[in-house]
Amino acid sequence: MSDLGLSNKIALITGGTRGLGRAIAEKLAEEKVKVVVTGTNEDRANRVANEISLAYNIETLSLKHDVSSEESTKEVVKCIIDKSKRIDILVNNAGITSDGIMMMMKKENWNKVLNINLTGAFNCTKFVSKHMLKQKSGSIVNITSVVGVTGNVGQANYSASKAGLIGFTKTVARELADRGITVNAVAPGYISTDMTSKLSDKISQEILCKIPMKTYGSPESVANAVLFLVSNMSQYITGQVINVDGGMVMY
Ligand code: NDP
Repeated sequence: MSDLGLSNKIALITGGTRGLGRAIAEKLAEEKVKVVVTGTNEDRANRVANEISLAYNIETLSLKHDVSSEESTKEVVKCIIDKSKRIDILVNNAGITSDGIMMMMKKENWNKVLNINLTGAFNCTKFVSKHMLKQKSGSIVNITSVVGVTGNVGQANYSASKAGLIGFTKTVARELADRGITVNAVAPGYISTDMTSKLSDKISQEILCKIPMKTYGSPESVANAVLFLVSNMSQYITGQVINVDGGMVMY
């Protein structure tokens, strides 16, 4: 097996406590990356970090974190730097939905989704990339969504945040490309997690009809794409969006 060059690297995975974030944290832990998992629920973050540490025999760190808050993000990055002196990988994964058709959508629900999904990634990238610039190395992966490209009825806020994340990825990739830092995005289609378990059976069936592979993806399929993008297998790849969607969206 080839060495992916990840052993002992330090990775911050926002929203690493459940669903895709947890799968990403475990996938990196398997490669001996020291993972920092964050979420708004401190107990869950502590429990998950302990479980990962025991399962993969690596050091982990858990921190309470609200990505939408500059202060909270500054504090999280400071804790990581105080403890580990560096930060090699950032996965901007934390995200929420708050669906409703646009005409009925309250501004509060628009702002909440944009603040967490898009401004959250800005906050984390800003504070983390400062250290990556000093190190002259780093990998950033933003978890966007296919609906950022296709749009989706009832998700004006969510799809706008995910479309914004794609533009953000490409811009930051250009800004940091000659500093040894890659910035890419992974766009999942429909993956079985708490987020999609909220969908009604009717909607789930409608979605399945639109997936050429006729099945929802697993969190691990997304984690595999992230692993590739943070490993030495993708050193010459930046500013790209990889769809993990069973063929739902083809350009
Ligand atoms: P889940 O709802 O299962 O998990 C969301 C994670 O984000 C949790 O760990 C949660 O932790 C954390 N989180 C929520 N709000 C905040 C916040 N303000 N600050 C920090 N962490 C926060 O979602 P998924 O795993 O399904 O989704 C993960 C990402 O993938 C999201 O960005 C989502 O938009 C994207 N995605 C998911 C798809 C899917 O089909 N599941 C498809 C396309 C994209 P806590 O509960 O402790 O706050």
